[in-house]
Amino acid sequence: MTLGIKGANLLAKPKPGANTMFEKILIANRGEIALRIQRACRELGIKTVVVHSEADADAKYVKLADESVCIGPASSSLSYLSIPAIISAAEVTDAQAIHPGYGFLSENADFSERVEKCGFVFIGPRAETIRLMGDKVSAKNAMKKAGVPCVPGVDGALPDTPAEIIKIARSIGYPVIIKASGGGGGRGMRVVHTEAALLNAVTMTKTEAQAAFNNPMVYMEKFLENPRHVEIQVLADQHGNAVYLGERDCSMQRRHQKILEEAPAPLLDTKMRDKVGERCAAACRKIGYRGAGTFEFLYENGEFFFIEMNTRVQVEHPVTEMITGIDIVRQQILIAAGEKLPFKQRDIKFRGHAIECRINAEHPYKFTPSPGRITTWHPPGGPGIRVDSHVYANYLVPSHYDSMIGKIISYGDTREQAMARMRTALSEMAVDGIETNIALHRELLQDAAFIRGGTSIHYLEERLAERTKGK
Ligand code: ADP
Repeated sequence: MTLGIKGANLLAKPKPGANTMFEKILIANRGEIALRIQRACRELGIKTVVVHSEADADAKYVKLADESVCIGPASSSLSYLSIPAIISAAEVTDAQAIHPGYGFLSENADFSERVEKCGFVFIGPRAETIRLMGDKVSAKNAMKKAGVPCVPGVDGALPDTPAEIIKIARSIGYPVIIKASGGGGGRGMRVVHTEAALLNAVTMTKTEAQAAFNNPMVYMEKFLENPRHVEIQVLADQHGNAVYLGERDCSMQRRHQKILEEAPAPLLDTKMRDKVGERCAAACRKIGYRGAGTFEFLYENGEFFFIEMNTRVQVEHPVTEMITGIDIVRQQILIAAGEKLPFKQRDIKFRGHAIECRINAEHPYKFTPSPGRITTWHPPGGPGIRVDSHVYANYLVPSHYDSMIGKIISYGDTREQAMARMRTALSEMAVDGIETNIALHRELLQDAAFIRGGTSIHYLEERLAERTKGK
């Protein structure tokens, strides 16, 4: 039984075979997800190594790990993004596998390749899969071939000839969106409403794409005016089995950053969801996908349109865990160790409703980051409340990283109950010393449109704009 690792140095550490669980996993991340992964490891009886920057040296989750290694200064480029530092840490601690979490190196194909070439198991898909999905043109083509519905547009990169570009835009119909193939993080995109603005927009996006992603390739698709963001969670093992774990609605966004997510998505055509979910699982089997992954869709007028795949665990994975009872991080580890998925699609049942509020160290309406020392940290509790966070009273929120300091997840038999529990949780929660976005979440949980459900990806920004006007 092999783990399917190509090019691994077989003289390196012994690797687990089938049913041989890892003894030690290195966690190449920080904050709440580093703690979340630690918890999954501990439950499985696996020892943990946490790597950390100088800025995170005193954090409790670092102390909680069996071992910790300082990999560099605060700046992520010199620590959490340093491939040699992380591989060396795995070598000196004799870890067998590396969990990348989300962000940082989690979707870096070169990292996953280096990890496996050095004889460790990368807890995630193979490097070639990450590469395929990291390029939006190739990802879209692969998904189209696998029968996953995509946003209408051209199949490949845009040609250079102006006449051809104009022809393509006319065939798609305005408005169109020009997107960088190598883009990410909501950058490298431009919406075009009229033919007059088209060629200039293409040139500008190409220039930006070259500068930001070192890849000038751009493509064009229909711009959907008022969609929702609905994503489908999948799990695939190394034995050709793949399942989908339902969907999440992540439409509540500001500048393409999600702030509140829920599962299932309210007012969704579940028959269509199941059909698309099946297609996603089939696509995983087709491309030999391994691990946890998310297919992101725009959802408009009852139809799903694929935009991209994330080849890692997502921040919002807990809402899916709550409604399926499946521990996604645990499954990631088991899959990487070569185990078969312990359930089939028919075993997966969606029960109840879950909502996640991301707690950020930032001003609730101006969104300016608010790092600093937390003086009071009083998290909520009670039935149906889960708090995933690494912070505590006297914790110093470093200024160098993402502002998210934790997540509150509520669960209920119905969406109404999940909302009621979240309202109670948010009213109990007290954080002093820094500013947080809790006030914004409290407001959203009272918002009539949110309570009805099914708001579009533009809703939050429109609502915030009105708020500013009203002041
Ligand atoms: P990134 O990898 O940068 O996050 P995505 O392809 O996921 O890029 O798109 C990010 C966001 O841009 C989407 O969530 C959506 O808000 C918007 N977007 C992307 N493509 C379209 C489209 N065809 N129509 C409307 N909005 C789009």
